[in-house]
Amino acid sequence: MIIDCHCHAGKGDILTAPWNTEAPIKAYLRRARAAGIARTVVFPVFHTDYDTANAQLARLVAVYPGRLIGFAFVHAARDAGRVFAMVEKAVTKWRFRGIKVHGHDAMPTREVCEAAQAFRIPLLVDVGGRAQVIDLLAPQYPAVNFIIPHLGSFGDDWRAHQQVIDLLIRLPNVFADTSGVRRFDYLVQAVKRAGPRKVLFGSDGPWLHPGLELHKIRLLGLPPDSEALILGGNALRLMRTARVETGVGLAFSQARPQPREPRRSDGPEVEAHLPLPEVVERQL
Ligand SMILES: [Zn+2]
Repeated sequence: MIIDCHCHAGKGDILTAPWNTEAPIKAYLRRARAAGIARTVVFPVFHTDYDTANAQLARLVAVYPGRLIGFAFVHAARDAGRVFAMVEKAVTKWRFRGIKVHGHDAMPTREVCEAAQAFRIPLLVDVGGRAQVIDLLAPQYPAVNFIIPHLGSFGDDWRAHQQVIDLLIRLPNVFADTSGVRRFDYLVQAVKRAGPRKVLFGSDGPWLHPGLELHKIRLLGLPPDSEALILGGNALRLMRTARVETGVGLAFSQARPQPREPRRSDGPEVEAHLPLPEVVERQL
């Protein structure tokens, strides 16, 4: 099953660029279907209120329950103090499977990382070329899986690509997505040096064509099992651990979990505790 782990959906309210105005999903879904993409991870566009944007996204995900998987967008600074509540609602009520943070808004704080840790969901962080922050964040939260879009830079910063590849090799809980990466040899290097378990296919739809982005993965010419990990296996593994039951928030507010030493058995790739929604689970 092919999963696109990076796509935007819904409307923004800033209206100064495509990425804060609207991410129309219909054309994307048509193109993705034609390309053989079965499921897509979606998150909102830039917005002045991510709680509103996430709720809007949840309504859209409900229209396409078999195809869309939501990630909650949070602004680490502006949403300070309410991140956990936002994530709890997204995970338990809407069955979202991850958190998206954009470094352009603010880099992830402990509050954001602890929410990801509590719900055992991946944290997708667009570092906008500032790959050095990953080396600070990821070792602090070894039980949180960090997905770095665009191999560290949408803007073709080759230094960031180099840094992210080194981090993929060195840090077990750091992953990268392939969306929008133009310099093809950095994708080759990422898979060759860090291994196919550390790279996830993403398109950055609807603005980039999912079929075109998918073709880049095909062009890597990998053995089928390696290609399958990149095209969906890794995404499923990272999302499968989510704690979707209610009550996590209560436990969290009573005693905020302290960062702890990882155990061999529950490191970054902990086994599934709870299934994905049935429709996805059947495909595992
Ligand atoms: Zn994006």
